[in-house]
Amino acid sequence: MRLREAVAADVAAFVAAHGRAPGLAVVLVGEDPASRVYVKNKGVATRAAGMVSFEHRLDAGVSEAELLALVAALNADQAVDGILVQLPLPAHIDGDKVLAAIDPAKDVDGFHPVNAGRLAVGQKALVPCTPKGCLMLIEEALGDLSGREALVIGRSSIVGKPMAALLTAKSATVTLAHSRTRDLAGHVARAEIVVAAVGVPEMVRGDWIRPGACVIDVGINRVVAADGTSRLVGDVEFAGASVRAGWITPVPGGVGPMTIACLLANTVEAASARLAA
Ligand code: NAD
Repeated sequence: MRLREAVAADVAAFVAAHGRAPGLAVVLVGEDPASRVYVKNKGVATRAAGMVSFEHRLDAGVSEAELLALVAALNADQAVDGILVQLPLPAHIDGDKVLAAIDPAKDVDGFHPVNAGRLAVGQKALVPCTPKGCLMLIEEALGDLSGREALVIGRSSIVGKPMAALLTAKSATVTLAHSRTRDLAGHVARAEIVVAAVGVPEMVRGDWIRPGACVIDVGINRVVAADGTSRLVGDVEFAGASVRAGWITPVPGGVGPMTIACLLANTVEAASARLAA
């Protein structure tokens, strides 16, 4: 993958200039099985890119104060260039408070209000990894996005809202659909770009897709068949959509790997920016 190669080259240049590799700290609280897999994959990818991975696994019962103390220690640690607190956090911890405690210069997930605000007003920011990766895929498929009709389905702070901001910055004409949107099928039928980030299995029907559209499926949904076997599907009905779309990402294997590659890219970016400051 080209992005991973670019990251590896940036890491090598960083090591040559600074005598150490960029470091990414990942904090996992509790035993959520999906989160454990994500954290493991992030650690493997970080080391494979030549960077240092610091992994902190905390008991589900850890107090908010203890977690905030760890974040403060990581903020102060000069070997740590990026900090990622894996979501979701247990109910007794205020996730917004924890994310806001991360030094914005080390906020490689791009969830801190300072980075979200910078993105919203068009300033240089650390951008959330999933929408950053989606934008790369869309630009690779379509080139210049100026004037394109883009539909983002889902308005979360992690995917939908930053995705809409990134497409707006590229001069696409952006519609942001959500749970109260009327006539979703009509919006999809008009869109040259569809980014689906909802979390409902195959809710975007294949026959809604505008012929030739670029379809980015962010959803990761586990569905269990009658015989007890399970599989992952996206938010888009892939079989029907793939015969109409000009370009479509599969689930699994499409957006997921780009998200991790963008996390690595954000870590090198944060490391370089911090040492240049
Ligand atoms: P979320 O639950 O925070 O947000 C879902 C959004 O969907 C909400 O804004 C809601 O308004 C909207 N929505 C709900 N029902 C709708 C409907 N009927 N029509 C239109 N919009 C509707 O979810 P999220 O964190 O943004 O994640 C969305 C999906 O993407 C999940 O399946 C998640 O697992 C996946 N995800 C994948 C990656 C990746 O790396 N591939 C990263 C993040 C999230």
